[in-house]
Amino acid sequence: LYILGIESSCDETAASVVKNGTEIISNVVASQIESHKRFGGVVPEIASRHHVEQVTIVLEEALKQANLEPKDLDGVCVTEGPGLVGALLIGINAAKAFAFANNLPLVGVHHIAGHIYANQLMQPMEFPLLALVVSGGHTELVLMKEHGSFELIGETRDDAAGEAYDKVARVLSIPYPGGPHIDRMAHESDGAIKFPRVWLEKDSYDFSFSGLKSAVINYQHNAVQRGEEINPHHIAKGFQDSVVEVLTAKTLRAAREFNVKQVIAAGGVSANKGLRTSLEATFKEEGIPFHVPPLKLCTDNGAMIAAAGSEMYKAGVCSDLSLNGRPGMELLSWNNK
Ligand code: ATP
Ligand code: MG
Ligand code: FE
Repeated sequence: LYILGIESSCDETAASVVKNGTEIISNVVASQIESHKRFGGVVPEIASRHHVEQVTIVLEEALKQANLEPKDLDGVCVTEGPGLVGALLIGINAAKAFAFANNLPLVGVHHIAGHIYANQLMQPMEFPLLALVVSGGHTELVLMKEHGSFELIGETRDDAAGEAYDKVARVLSIPYPGGPHIDRMAHESDGAIKFPRVWLEKDSYDFSFSGLKSAVINYQHNAVQRGEEINPHHIAKGFQDSVVEVLTAKTLRAAREFNVKQVIAAGGVSANKGLRTSLEATFKEEGIPFHVPPLKLCTDNGAMIAAAGSEMYKAGVCSDLSLNGRPGMELLSWNNK
């Protein structure tokens, strides 16, 4: 089963061919980070223009690197949502045109299902499975009892983890996207500012990061006002410690409560060294298998969309040419259970 996956929901134009939903044959990602950097974040109009320029090139390159022709494929998958509507539509229209021209089935995939299924490119999923999804726009704990079944057991009530990283970075005048820089600074740091941990209600699996973000901003403003030197490394380390501690503790509690066989991390922030180390150590001690994809599969890519889309295809879930971009799309189970 050869599936082409296309992703264009934000600032990466990506295409990939995946075999049987588990094996990457090619994986091409064109990042736009350089174009958005000077604005300190993703500018939707600029993103759309880049996707228009890149999508055909990336798609052809993915086929070329896979050494396959369109007729060798079994289906085309594309991110349906959530994301920037203008950005989504470019990937979707490319996928529709390609599917129509080559008479291939079309599958619309949820971006976060993609992030989760990036893990299937590394090892088989074992159910029940708990996924910690931490990305630029999402922070969620998702319970999966089988393929295509998603139960949201907790989510952020305000900022996503990646969003908090990027905003804190901005306050520290660190270039966009700030996550990787703060991660590096935290590791180089020889000390840490103590920032609060936000646990919410005792039994809640929800998250909140806007209070932590404000604490960092206030700390910085107060120091500047008093004319004190700040140590950005200590701020980075203190911020990261708070994020990692809360994410790890809630994931562990959920893994115990739902008695899961496997825990996985997914999304851009799962590239975070501090978080990976913490989760690995915690679940090693707990005796629950834990997995996180290699860095390249944590951030947006086409392979993850092809992996999730392959499972949908196997389950007989397909779209038609009326497929439209859904910027606020919810993560719903596709097995209807
Ligand atoms: P979503 O997947 O929610 O739609 P997105 O696709 O924009 O959002 P991703 O591409 O999955 O998000 O992840 C990008 C985010 O990951 C950015 O916020 C970035 O700062 C963050 N990130 C990347 N690497 C790291 C890291 N090492 N540490 C912390 N954050 C990181
Ligand atoms: Mg991105
Ligand atoms: Fe993403």
